[in-house]
Amino acid sequence: MLVPDGDQAISNGVLVSSSSRAGWTRYNWRENKPQATYLATLAVGKFDVTTGTSEGGVPIVNAYSTDLGDNDGAARASVERTGEIVDWLSGYFGPYPFSSAGGYVPNVPSSFSLETQTRVFYSPKAFRNGSNVSVVVHELAHQWWGDSVSLERWSDIWLNEGFATYAQWLWSEHEDEGTAQEIADYTYASHPADDPFWTVKPGDPGPENQFDTAVYNRGALAIQALRGAVGDDAFFRILKAWPTERQYGNGTIADFRTLAERISGKDLGGLFETWLYTASRPSTNSAGAALGAKAVSERADAAARPKSWTQIQQTLEGLHAG
Ligand SMILES: [Zn+2]
Repeated sequence: MLVPDGDQAISNGVLVSSSSRAGWTRYNWRENKPQATYLATLAVGKFDVTTGTSEGGVPIVNAYSTDLGDNDGAARASVERTGEIVDWLSGYFGPYPFSSAGGYVPNVPSSFSLETQTRVFYSPKAFRNGSNVSVVVHELAHQWWGDSVSLERWSDIWLNEGFATYAQWLWSEHEDEGTAQEIADYTYASHPADDPFWTVKPGDPGPENQFDTAVYNRGALAIQALRGAVGDDAFFRILKAWPTERQYGNGTIADFRTLAERISGKDLGGLFETWLYTASRPSTNSAGAALGAKAVSERADAAARPKSWTQIQQTLEGLHAG
C-alpha cells in the first residue's frame, strides 16, 4: 500500500517492510494464516502506532487515530490491554492462533466494532462512556471463535457470537463483577416468556436476525447451560478442544455438538434443541437444571444485576449490526 508521507497504512498481520521515496511511503503488511474475506481490513490515515509483546510472547501492534479527541484516553486504556487479554484467553482457548495481535481505533462514525483478523477494528464510540475492556475481550475471543475457526455457513453464527459473548462473561467472573452463572440467571430473568427475545433461535436465527442481541445473549446462555449440563471439567476441555482441533479450518454447530458429546460422554441432543433451536423460553425447571442453578427466577428483580451487566449490554449494542 502506497500512501503520502505522514500517513500510515494499517492492515492485518505483521508489517513486513515500509520504505519511503519521493514523498510516498510503501507499507507491506502480511497475514500468513488463512483469512476469511470479511476479516480483511485496511486503514489509511494519521495514526499513533504502539508496539510490544505480551508476556506470553505474542507481538502486539495497536494504532490510534491522532484525532480521537475525548475518546482517546479511554480507547488507549482499553486497547493497550490487548496483550494481557490475549494471554488470559489463551488459558481458556489454547495458544493464540496468529503471529500478531492488536487493534486500531480510527476516527470514523461507525458504531460497530469488528473482529478483523489480528487487527481488530474498534469504533471510537465503544469508548465514549470510558474505558471498555469488555469489547476488547469480545473481539479478541473472536480470533479463536470465528477467525481461526471459521463458520461453514452463516446460520451457525452462534459459534462466533455466543462464544465471544461468553468470553465477556468469563472476564466478568475474572474481574469479580459477577459470575457467568449470575449473568445467566439475570439474562434469563430479564426476559419474560412472552418477550420476542425468545423467538430468535440462536442456532438458526435467519438472515433478518443474524446479529440480533438474542444471538449474543441467548447464545451465551446456551453455553452456560452446556456448562451446567457437562460440569466445569468437561466444559473447559471442550472450550479448548474446538479452537485447537479445528485451527485454521471450519466447523458447524453439528460438529461442535459431536465434539462436546465426545468429551463429556453425554447425549446433548435435548440441550442443543432446547437452547439453540426452539423459538420459546425454556421452562423454569429445565432452565434451572441445565443452568446448574438451584432455581431460576421468573422475575428480573429477584435476580441481582451483576456489576458487569451494563457494560456488557452497551458493548453488544455496538456490536450487532443496525
Ligand atoms: Zn462479535
